[in-house]
Parts: sequence; structure tokens; C-alpha cells
Amino acid sequence: MRVSACGLTDPGRVRSHNEDFFEIDPERALYVVADGMGGHSHGEVASKMAVQAIQDFVRRAESGDDTWPFNYDSHLERHSNILKAAVRLAHDQVLSAIRDDGSLHGMGTTVVGCLVRNGTAALAHVGDSRAYRLRGGQLELLTEDHTWVNEQVVAGFLSKEQARDHPLKNVVTRALGGETEVAVDVREIAMEPGDTLLLCSDGLTTMLDDQEIEECLRKSAEELDCACKALVEEANARGGHDNVTVVLLRADD
Ligand code: CA
Repeated sequence: MRVSACGLTDPGRVRSHNEDFFEIDPERALYVVADGMGGHSHGEVASKMAVQAIQDFVRRAESGDDTWPFNYDSHLERHSNILKAAVRLAHDQVLSAIRDDGSLHGMGTTVVGCLVRNGTAALAHVGDSRAYRLRGGQLELLTEDHTWVNEQVVAGFLSKEQARDHPLKNVVTRALGGETEVAVDVREIAMEPGDTLLLCSDGLTTMLDDQEIEECLRKSAEELDCACKALVEEANARGGHDNVTVVLLRADD
């Protein structure tokens, strides 16, 4: 399966610097978005470090490095195991950087990654960066936010509408660099020709709801670079309160 991809990041209209980071690695069909947090630009350090650690591990694992750092999950495909291990190693790397340099204390990052092999997209995420699929003009959210408000929605204590404007909506319950152990959500998505996947930071999803993202993609999804620009411009037109990052990938055949 041939996959084409495009990505764009923008500081938005309010923030002076950009703590998001993304990577498109066409050779490995690896796509990652990370949204860093922490004072004094340390969010930038965390997001870049995590993305590079993921890319490094995927590269090593695919080149036949036999050392496997974690239990292998036989229910998942090999490339899903690789991506999951890569995210866990990225977490270890952020933690170890914090241990080595006390001034980095408090830094962390969300991450959403996608690795495509043989028509199956492995998706791994931690935090509130999301993955969506557009198929036949319909947008579907593929990830579950690791946030306090989403946990309240799932438990039935808040409606989706209440969650959108809740003062604690930015509180993530999982991040790389947070607790000692990190739980990584992994799922596998069969890709059909024409499917478009969107990976994004919350700078997009706090400005646009799912229906607005769907409309934006329907209008512009033919050209991935135009669609990336349209999403970022739309987030900024609505205030651009946060850094915004989008990565789009499409199964071409
Ligand atoms: Ca953000």
C-alpha cells in the first residue's frame, strides 16, 4: 500500500513559541505528533526528544536489532509491538533526561504515533493528542483522550458539551515524563484505499469540534497540503489559543 502524507505545525495566535513537534518518515511509514509541556521552553525539549526516540527505536527494530525491551504482545502485529515499545522507550528517555538535569523537572509530552505495514495502521497514543479517520466523507475519532474531563464524560458525570468548556479541560492524566510507568493505548486499523488519517495536537481540537474538522477535510482533503493549511488556518481564525499541529496521511492504493 502506498501512503502519502503531509504535516504542518504553527504556534497559533497567542503563544510565543511552539512546543508541538511532528515527524513524517516516509521510508518507514511512520507519523508522529507530540505536544510538549513544561516551563522555560522545556515542552519543546520533551516533544522533540520523544519523537526522535520513537523514530530511532523504529529504525533500530526494523533493521533487525534483536534486543526487545518489553514483553511482546502476541495479540498485536509485530509493527504494533514496535510502535508501543518505541513510545515506552521515549517515556523512559524523557524521565531519564529529567533525572539528569533537575531544571527539566515538570516537562512532559503527549504523543500520538502511527506506523503502517501491509495495509494495517498501528496507532499508539498517550495524552490528548488524537487520531481520526476520514472514510467516505465521515470522520471518526480513533483515540480516547487521557484527560480528566474525558474520564468524567466516560463515567457519565459530564456531558461532551460541558467537557468542551470545562476549566480543567487541559488536564491530562497520562503523559510521557509523568508517572514512572506509562500505559500506552495501542490499536490496529485496517486501511482501505482512500482512507485519510489525521494526527493532531489539542490546539486543533480545542478550536474546532469534530464536525468542523470533518467539514474542513471534506472540502480540502483531495490535496493533503491544502487540507493541512486549511485546518491550521481555521484553528487560527477561531483564535489560535494554542500551538496547532496536524499530520494527514492517505492510503493511495
Ligand atoms: Ca497543546
